[in-house]
Amino acid sequence: MPEGRLTMNCPKCKENNDKVFDSRPCMKVEGIWRRRECLSCGERWTTYEVTEDKLATSQTELMSRRVKGALSGIRNDINRYLEGGD
Ligand SMILES: [Zn+2]
Repeated sequence: MPEGRLTMNCPKCKENNDKVFDSRPCMKVEGIWRRRECLSCGERWTTYEVTEDKLATSQTELMSRRVKGALSGIRNDINRYLEGGD
């Protein structure tokens, strides 16, 4: 299968009728990003192609960032409670 022949459903009109008009390696995530254009409605969007282990890594990082964010939110709540408790 030639590269770029895998089509995706358009995020706008949901047609499975897109073409890849640009693709290049993405150094940041060691993957490939593709610029896609819907041939039905002209919508353009970007997809990233990464290996499964990279995806797992980035999901773990995302998750730990969310947990840290949630924890700092809880800490703020506790501080507010302690400050206002008297
Ligand atoms: Zn479309």
